Amino acid sequence: MGYVSGLKCRECGREYPVDPIYVCEFCFGPLEVVYDYKRIKRVLTRKNIEKREKNLWRYKELLPINGEPQVGLQSGFTPLVKADNLARELGVRELYIKDDTVVHPTLSFKDRVVAVALTKAKEFGFDTVACASTGNLAHSVSAHGAKAGFKRFVFIPATLEQSKIVASLVYEPNLVAVDGNYDEVNRLCSEIANKYKWAFVNINIRPFYAEGSKTQGFEIIEQLGWEAPDNVVVPCASGSLLTKVWKAFKEFKEIGILKELGTKVFAAQATGCSPIAAAIKQGTDVIRPVKPNTVAKSLAIGNPADGFYASQVVKATNGYGEDVSDEEIIDGIKLLARTEGIFSETAGGVTIATTKKLIEQGRIGRNETTVVCITGNGLKTQEALTGHTAEVHYIKPNLGAFEETLNKIQSAR
Ligand SMILES: *Cc1c(COP(=O)(O)O)cnc(C)c1O
Repeated sequence: MGYVSGLKCRECGREYPVDPIYVCEFCFGPLEVVYDYKRIKRVLTRKNIEKREKNLWRYKELLPINGEPQVGLQSGFTPLVKADNLARELGVRELYIKDDTVVHPTLSFKDRVVAVALTKAKEFGFDTVACASTGNLAHSVSAHGAKAGFKRFVFIPATLEQSKIVASLVYEPNLVAVDGNYDEVNRLCSEIANKYKWAFVNINIRPFYAEGSKTQGFEIIEQLGWEAPDNVVVPCASGSLLTKVWKAFKEFKEIGILKELGTKVFAAQATGCSPIAAAIKQGTDVIRPVKPNTVAKSLAIGNPADGFYASQVVKATNGYGEDVSDEEIIDGIKLLARTEGIFSETAGGVTIATTKKLIEQGRIGRNETTVVCITGNGLKTQEALTGHTAEVHYIKPNLGAFEETLNKIQSAR
């Protein structure tokens, strides 16, 4: 038995029972999961959490399931790395990397949302799961769906990186590459979802799926010793992760696990697809859809479903939204690798480069504590670095050849 009291429209507040539905029938607003915090408060304490397995289900009372977790038992509780080298380079006192490039079976934060979505799909009795993906979700649904015994239909834009396609196909889903961008894939999937009784994790299961992102927020608080950071920088595609990291912080405050909360939430986007950052910069509530053109394909959603709500969180917390060029993204990937030994995918380059910019602008204070959310592993998007990495030293297999090269390396310093 879970702690969910129902679904509620984020716009008009109308309430619904727990079903695989996602929009309000009256105003078409998105539905959100509502919990009984009074009951949760009685059972979910710091002590209880600390005793549990180190995976994302250690916060299960604040996740929308009824029974026991069924998917993702090896996902979550990724490291929070104190990034002293990077902090020094950027000129700030305290910087942490929430490192979702590791631990997760498919090496991105999407394993969080899919763990929750597929557990819920089981509870609803679906035998087929599906998704519209910019890449990482495809991996996650393909892999976790395989383990959980679902039939899988995965829809991607046909232009996705080859390495991302292979990393889905290996799990043998039905992979459908659509001749169009993500927003077109998503529109097609909404039509399919209306016709076929499948659990589309980011369409009809979306209210439950999205809750999985909160686990990143819960972990940040726990790993900081049950304190909230001054700043958190979150990459945005649909904007969902950002809203849920904030929801997690607020929920921990609500149930008394967190004493003080004054975090500023910052949105990071690629300039080639920055509808959320643009709205924040212009001080408008209107998210103007764009046609994505960026190397950061996992963030390339031109018409972000949660863009408005993400911009509202940023506004309410006195954060900001920034965007960075493809060149800055590559530099960001390299900076993180060079200073912290962490290889992130292009989305991480976006977040690091945006953080750098926000520090330079004085929006992130040099004496404050900042957490940067790095959401996917660099092995997924190696193509992006072609022509941007240092050279390989090719030599013949003898000592003379090596020492000749060594001389060259040392004199180049
Ligand atoms: C999906 C994704 C995000 C953010 O997604 P939202 O739609 O904003 O929740 C961030 N980083 C990576 C690597 C992703 O795959």
